[in-house]
Amino acid sequence: MNYDIMKQYGLTDAMINEASLAEGLFVGRVLSQSKDIYRVATETGTLFAEVSGKYRFQTRRLSDFPAVGDFVLLDRDLGDSGNGIIHQVLSRKSAFIRKAAGKSAQEQLVLANIDTTFICMSANNDFNLKRLERYLVLVWESGSTPVVVITKIDLCEDIDSKFRAVDAIGNGVDILGISALTKEGYDDVMSYMTPGKTVALLGSSGVGKSTLINWLVGQDALETQGVRNDDRGRHTTTRRELVLLPSGGMLVDTPGMRELGMWDIDEGLDRAFQDVETYFDKCRFRDCTHTNEPGCAIYDAIRDGELSEKRWQSYLKLKTEDAYSENRDDYLKKKNEKFKNISKHNKVKYNKLK
Ligand code: GDP
Ligand code: ZN
Repeated sequence: MNYDIMKQYGLTDAMINEASLAEGLFVGRVLSQSKDIYRVATETGTLFAEVSGKYRFQTRRLSDFPAVGDFVLLDRDLGDSGNGIIHQVLSRKSAFIRKAAGKSAQEQLVLANIDTTFICMSANNDFNLKRLERYLVLVWESGSTPVVVITKIDLCEDIDSKFRAVDAIGNGVDILGISALTKEGYDDVMSYMTPGKTVALLGSSGVGKSTLINWLVGQDALETQGVRNDDRGRHTTTRRELVLLPSGGMLVDTPGMRELGMWDIDEGLDRAFQDVETYFDKCRFRDCTHTNEPGCAIYDAIRDGELSEKRWQSYLKLKTEDAYSENRDDYLKKKNEKFKNISKHNKVKYNKLK
């Protein structure tokens, strides 16, 4: 079978092997999703598709359903009539997962198979290291590689200090500074847009994500594709979320990424806070709680100015959230006895859950 187009979309040899086990099915990549309908690129063109009845019936976890970025196996290509039917999702290279709305606390897939994630943050109003720390955890957890993109550098007098601040918490991640006005840094951005690689954008609204995407793709890339009234009278818009760039490479900007919360972030936390975690081995006691034990390496590092108190507090806060999401029910029960000092953020979360 010919996979020239799908390879441009990032199909790997491992995925081709996996696909070859299923006879008579075509490979496609999910470009966007609107409720149960997926827009899928295939070797012969783009079509709409839905999962098979069997798939729907047998799939227990929400996160096993296809999402934007997934490679799927379908039984129809463009030549046939009707929607394509999705029978299988190929193994994912990476996955952004969020907690679904409601009390069930189910995991929901937001994006799959992202190679690089641009964490966008503007050099002026939106510059927030605490939020960046959180984003870094999420991105490492997803299995994609974070790159910090500081936008609107034309609005900042002292960009060097911003770079240094990010570098101090980045554990070696790439940091770019860009301006849509002067086009500074756009070459650096382009170096990540290589054939077969998918870049996702993460960041608050207003930091300049659409501006960057529109420049990379061409003007109308992010315009909504028409507004329709569905039978409940609500407006639904479909947008192209994953786009192939003229230069090769792909970009994804999906609204779901803005609602990502913390969810089982153990590994991401370890990776994002490597600088903090290296001290743990150096504490005198194996079971050091880093509160008031003698010979605590964390204590010493903070005293000696090697580790900032702020950084340590960020770590503790995110660690608490992680424990909280894992033991949610226990947490709710023990709320009053055990967590007297829960942060404001967790209190909000708790109130929502009650
Ligand atoms: P998004 O919500 O992240 O997609 O942000 P937009 O791309 O819509 O940009 C928000 C606003 O910031 C718009 O008014 C842009 O013109 C402006 N903007 C974007 N990039 C830059 C930049 O590099 N410098 C300046 N000064 N303004 C920018
Ligand atoms: Zn210690």
